Parts: sequence; structure tokens; C-alpha cells
Amino acid sequence: MQRRAFLKGAGAGLGLAAAAVSPAAFANGPNVRWRLASSFPKSLDIIYGAAESLSSRLNAITGGKFQVRVHAGGELVPGLQVLDAVQNGSVECGHSASYYYVGKNMAFAFDCTLPFGLTARQQHAWMVAGGGLELLRELFAQYNIVQFPGGNTGAQMGGWFRREIRSLADLKGLKMRIPGIGGQIMARLGAVPQTLAGGDIYPSLERGAIDAAEWVGPYDDEKLGFHKIAKNYYYPGWWEGGPQLSFYVNAGQWKNLPPAYQAAFEAACAEANAAMLARYDAGNPPALMRLLKQGVKLRAYPKDVLMAARKASFELYEEEARKNPTFARVYRNWKTFLDMENQWFKVAESPYANFLHYAK
Ligand code: CA
Repeated sequence: MQRRAFLKGAGAGLGLAAAAVSPAAFANGPNVRWRLASSFPKSLDIIYGAAESLSSRLNAITGGKFQVRVHAGGELVPGLQVLDAVQNGSVECGHSASYYYVGKNMAFAFDCTLPFGLTARQQHAWMVAGGGLELLRELFAQYNIVQFPGGNTGAQMGGWFRREIRSLADLKGLKMRIPGIGGQIMARLGAVPQTLAGGDIYPSLERGAIDAAEWVGPYDDEKLGFHKIAKNYYYPGWWEGGPQLSFYVNAGQWKNLPPAYQAAFEAACAEANAAMLARYDAGNPPALMRLLKQGVKLRAYPKDVLMAARKASFELYEEEARKNPTFARVYRNWKTFLDMENQWFKVAESPYANFLHYAK
């Protein structure tokens, strides 16, 4: 009882301290009203929800002084043009996946993911404590943007296939919905990658225009219903082992914010960043169980596919590094970090996790 009373007293003390500090920091500050352009539809509720989480926490922390209105992909600007909109200031901020912009510079992929790259844990470590954030901010500064980590889906699934893939040879001529660098690697392995928006995948798979499609993981894939047509559900999504989403802020707008507003924004981003992975880790297992009950077959990518895809990926990075100095600069740091992380993770994390996964 005494302990409970003490804790209650301590909590009240903290509350008082916060109350004494935070409203004063914002009470005399300006009313800031921003618009956020998301790249994502509301149906991807966990990813889209990160921007809503940022908005509601910012509102709470600042006592309503700093409000951000979230707009779904396409409402203000097309989903794949969020970076451009933040860069030119037509919106103050955005939420996107930086690998959408590899056409501008392939180095943008490091702010999201590359095939056989960092896991979600490792990406977070690189951004927070490995120098990744600082390196990438140099790239984003050239585009008039300050960026913040804005969530991670964790390792994605490797897609839905109408037919089983028994070896590398089965990929020859296979038409698969897989965008970005993952698609480029699939092409090097003989497949025919297609870029299709979320809503176009199911009809294409249904009428046989494509043989396979990747999306995210069980939680999101279940809603699009791919399992009704293609029963072979492959893992892992080696092109997205820990894809990070990002919040973008126009550099001029960021500079004009009072320091307390900047701190509030940064804290709200960090919270949204952590919550996304938690929501996926909690939502994916029951969704996978429901899919398996409907006859879905879980299948691992054959080893020769993984080996060939990994080789093709690092060949592509080395080629890009030879012609793109920005890519080379980030890549060297990232690759050293990736190799070090994997030396460590194979000692403690992976054996521990593997033991738990298979212990009976
Ligand atoms: Ca994906």
C-alpha cells in the first residue's frame, strides 16, 4: 500500500513538472498549421496510421498549438510525388517510402531498404546510432528536405505465386508484380517485373496477366484477397527485409519552427516510428493463421534463388557505386555497418530467436 501511494505521488509529481514546463513552452508560441501529404491509402491502416499518430501526439504535446492535417495518397498530390511536393513547399510535410525516388538518386533507397539489406532492428540502429541519419540528411538537404524515420513494416513476405517455384529456372519469364530495385533484381534472374498499384494487382492476378505478386505481409495482404487466386505464399521478402518509412519536412518550414516545436515534432516522429513495427508484429501472426486455415501454402524461396538474387543485388550496388558518388558514399558506410551487424546478430539474437521458434 505504501509503495502504491509512493508511486502515485511520484507520478503526480512528474505530471506537475510536465504541466509546469510544456504549456509555457508553447503558450506564447505561434499557432502552426501544417498539411501532411501521405503516399499511402487509408486502407494500409498501419502505415497510413503513423502519420495520424504523429498528428495526434503533436497536438497533445503542444496543447493544440502545432496541428498537422493528414491527407491520404492522391488527395493533395499523387502518392509517388510526395518528395517533390515537400521539396517545392506545396505541402509543409509528408510521409513516404524513400525508395519511390530512386529515379532521382538510387541513394534514396538507403532511407528505406535495399535487397539483402538491414533488418528493421539494424536499420533503426544505423539511423539512430550508426551515422545513417546524418549521411542521409546530406542527401535530403539537396532536395530542401529534413527527414525523420517514420515506421518500419519489418521483414515482408516474398509474394503470392500461382505455381510453385522449385528452382531458379522456374523464374524464367515469370510475370511478377514487384516494383523498384527488387524488380530490377528479379529481371536479372530472368523474371518479368511489373509495377502495378495496390488496387490493380488482384484483377491482374485473377485474369492471368501476372503469375505472381508481392505486397507487404499477412496483415495487409489478407485484405486484398490474393490467397483466393494464388495459394503459394513465399518467404522471405528478400528485397524488403526491413523497409523504413519516412517523414519529410520542408527545410525552410523546419528552420522557422521554434526549438520546442522542433523537439515536439521529433518526439512524435520517434513514437510513430516505434509503434508501426509493433503494430505489424502484433497484427501479422493472427492474419497468417487465418490465411493458413484457408488453404494457403507457406513456402520458402529455394536456396539457389536466394543465392543468385543476393549476388545480383551486390553486383548492382557495386555498379551504381562506380557511377554515382552519393550512392558510393552512403553505400560504403551502410555495407560496413550491415556486415558488422550480421556478425553480431548471428552470435546472440538469431540463435536465441531460432531456438525459441522451434523449441517444443
Ligand atoms: Ca512489398
